[in-house]
Amino acid sequence: MDVTTCLQKLQYVGVLAFATVDNAGKPQVRNISAIHYESLDSAPALYFFTARGKNFCRELLANGHVQILAYTRYKEMIRVSARAIAVPEEQQAHWIDTIFAEQPYLANVYPGKTREIGKVFCINEGSIEYFNLGVRPIFRERYTFGTSPSAEPPKGYQITQACISCGTCARYCPQDCIQSGSPYQIQAEHCLHCGSCFEHCPVQAVQRLG
Ligand code: SF4
Ligand code: SF4
Repeated sequence: MDVTTCLQKLQYVGVLAFATVDNAGKPQVRNISAIHYESLDSAPALYFFTARGKNFCRELLANGHVQILAYTRYKEMIRVSARAIAVPEEQQAHWIDTIFAEQPYLANVYPGKTREIGKVFCINEGSIEYFNLGVRPIFRERYTFGTSPSAEPPKGYQITQACISCGTCARYCPQDCIQSGSPYQIQAEHCLHCGSCFEHCPVQAVQRLG
């Protein structure tokens, strides 16, 4: 898996859930399909349309932080964490027309010049979490794209030098993704982050990350 394939899968899913935080600090999630994908191979960027009057637009203008979530029919979860930036005013009409040309239904929602109430945002750097529950062992990976993406803090669990190699964690791991050794080692790419090893270790050698 890689950034380009993940973004192509987002295209196939079509309608994506976009999460922001409102001015009361509460989560808000919207489905967005008015999306255009640009240069998937070299410089991936995702453009999307909303209307200036929507709270979603105001929340994006406030700080740009957004998470996008997609779930494919093959039980793959793709999550993009990024900052969305409004494209410059002189480019708005171009990107609005580009998105409307690809999504004919939008002309029904915003006929004629009413599309001018729109605002297009761009995401061209961020991080992606890919999580496939349709294979055994499950598989997860993280990627970044763009020139200076902010690194997401590590998640999951790791085994420290306090491990006494008793093997208890491996017996309770639903994905058999803990290798024996001194110390035992979690194969992070197959870990569910379920916490079973953490709860069962008799010497608290398993550490939660993040
Ligand atoms: S249960 Fe704890 S001590 Fe035992 S192998 Fe796992 S990490 Fe090491
Ligand atoms: S968190 Fe769950 S899946 Fe991951 S290593 Fe521990 S027991 Fe296994």
